[in-house]
Amino acid sequence: MLDFFFKPKTVAVIGASREPGKVGHDVLRNLLDFNFPGHIFPINPKADEILGLKAYPSILEVPEDVDLVVIAVRAPFVPEVIDQCGQKGVKAAVVLTSGFKETGLEGAKLEKKLVETARSHGIRIIGPNCLGILDTYSRLNATFAGLKPIKGEIGFFSQSGALCLAVLEWSKAEKIGLSRFVSLGNKCDVNEIECLRMLAEDPHTKVIMGYIEGITDGRAFTEVACEVAREKPVIIFKSGTTAAGARAASSHTGSLAGSEQAFEASVKRSGLIRAKTLREFFNLALYFAFMPPLAGPYLGIVTNSGGPGIVAADACENSALELPSLSSETVEKLRKVLPPYASFYNPVDITGDADAARYEKTLEVLIEDQRLNGLLVILSRTATVNPDEVAEILTKDKAQKPIVACFLGEESVKKARKKLLKGKVPHYEYPEEAVKVLEKAWLYEWWRKKPPAKVKKLKVNFKQVAETLQIVRSEGRSHLLDHEVKQILEAYGFVFPKSLVARTTDEAILAAKVIGYPVVLKVLSPQIQHKSDVGGVKVNIRDEEELIKAFEEIIINVRKRLPGISVLGVIVQEMAPKGKEVIVGFIRDPQFGPLVMFGLGGIYVEVLKDVTFRLAPLAKEEALEMIREIKAYPVLKGIRGEPEVDMDSLARAIVSMGQLAADFPELSEGEVNPLIVGPKGQKTIAVDARLSLGGEK
Ligand code: ADP
Ligand code: MG
Repeated sequence: MLDFFFKPKTVAVIGASREPGKVGHDVLRNLLDFNFPGHIFPINPKADEILGLKAYPSILEVPEDVDLVVIAVRAPFVPEVIDQCGQKGVKAAVVLTSGFKETGLEGAKLEKKLVETARSHGIRIIGPNCLGILDTYSRLNATFAGLKPIKGEIGFFSQSGALCLAVLEWSKAEKIGLSRFVSLGNKCDVNEIECLRMLAEDPHTKVIMGYIEGITDGRAFTEVACEVAREKPVIIFKSGTTAAGARAASSHTGSLAGSEQAFEASVKRSGLIRAKTLREFFNLALYFAFMPPLAGPYLGIVTNSGGPGIVAADACENSALELPSLSSETVEKLRKVLPPYASFYNPVDITGDADAARYEKTLEVLIEDQRLNGLLVILSRTATVNPDEVAEILTKDKAQKPIVACFLGEESVKKARKKLLKGKVPHYEYPEEAVKVLEKAWLYEWWRKKPPAKVKKLKVNFKQVAETLQIVRSEGRSHLLDHEVKQILEAYGFVFPKSLVARTTDEAILAAKVIGYPVVLKVLSPQIQHKSDVGGVKVNIRDEEELIKAFEEIIINVRKRLPGISVLGVIVQEMAPKGKEVIVGFIRDPQFGPLVMFGLGGIYVEVLKDVTFRLAPLAKEEALEMIREIKAYPVLKGIRGEPEVDMDSLARAIVSMGQLAADFPELSEGEVNPLIVGPKGQKTIAVDARLSLGGEK
């Protein structure tokens, strides 16, 4: 796929120029300097020869077949040039020219014309407004970047040209080579999804790095990422993820969801390795380019100073990694090579008077300890240690076990750092950074090893929901009535407390008798979103006297806070048995489609923001992961002697909410908040729910 872009036999540069500094000149220069083995044809009607190559007035005059064209003419001429390429039978074009969609409406029109022309000839386009493409194995440098790339194993694609340059420069500085490199520009045709596939299939690419600003089809992207990430690590840095709550939302779920949450949900499903900062982007690439997978979470730390060791240990504490204690066998061996005042715990502190030989002996012992999956070697500059020698040791006999280094300091360790990178040992400036990288390496390996989550459909009453929605549509309503919300969610397995509507105190008394005390009273008004916000909910009403008082208070509260609003009466509801309040909801993202949210529920959801998202529909294992992911998980597990809540029933609720979202695209968002879940054996009860209808997205 797209291979023809990267392995052409002949290349034409349309808009080739004699003037250095011009795109049409620099790209030709790069093609020549990188020793492209095939024929290169400069196209320029005003020149006979450029950089020693015979120039042609138009692509149509070129005497051979042309596999790839690189276009650098001014924007208005591009569609016409593409048309000529079509006549010539060209199949691949890289359009470097800017002045298209990125400039506004006129540019967008021109870009549309460019795409239409290309489609009519079956030409694939990379760009426009891009830096070009590169393949270090076929010796194709069709970029106008001023840096000569090194051959290696990292395949990179980017929506930003500036980032392309940054990656080129970084790869040179860190002596990491590149295999392929694609600057996507406006991605009018070839997009990030095809790039992922292409780099997955490229045998020279071992690690994929991608910089993304926007994703056009989030679902397709996730699916492809799922496949590719099983083969090779894919490190993604995405910018432009906006904070949640930017738009007006009618539910808690809506106010907490945003493009950031949608992307994160995609990452969680697909096993992409996400860098949160540019620095982390490079840090991660260094690890994956140089090191084998981190097979487990158990890390060993060696240090010659206490402080940095503790910093690293603290970072581990807050991560998915663990610092196991050393086996007695390992401790025995260490005692033979370390002074008695050293620390034989993990981190192993070989103390400030250590020299390189002490590092070497310690490492030999720790590498042998099968319990440790990876090692972090920290070095602080002291009078006795020579950083260069330690670097030498680390690069010498590369163990099967991943080892990363953190040499603290600036000038004094500069040479040693260079040595490490040259010897393909990742080096990080600070211990926390090293730990973060190792954590992500482990989480990736964990994801890769677990069997892919399979979505299993639950048995639900699909027909009932379809019928209810049909009634709503036939009455021309966009609002679902309370009993309809209940009907729909019940059809998907949610259980509601008994409840009755009462318009007067007398009716309420009667209703409470039927339901049985204690009861809950809630204001009934289609105009009120969050009832407790306006004093519209009274719980644990034990008798008639309390009921009358609660009824009056609710009416007074609502009248006072929302004068003029129509109040239909109250709902008298059965008290749910004691349990933990959680929220289960869904929303639709324009790119990623339906998302399920789970978190700590109740009336403080937006304040605590202890929620997590997944793409819907989802597998039960994913639902269980969501439950384990929230901060309040220990509360659900049961603290202070409380029993654990019914996790199975909770997971089922999450899965069925996802299924509902996926089954009925006309439902734009919805949630149960709170869902009250108690210990196993107690029914999980949905005490409050809402659903909204929207346009199909
Ligand atoms: P709203 O979210 O509109 O303010 P809810 O119906 O969610 O109203 O009620 C607010 C809170 O009252 C819930 O979070 C829950 O703590 C409590 N509550 C409501 N209904 C019940 C019930 N049937 N049983 C037990 N507690 C309830
Ligand atoms: Mg509620």
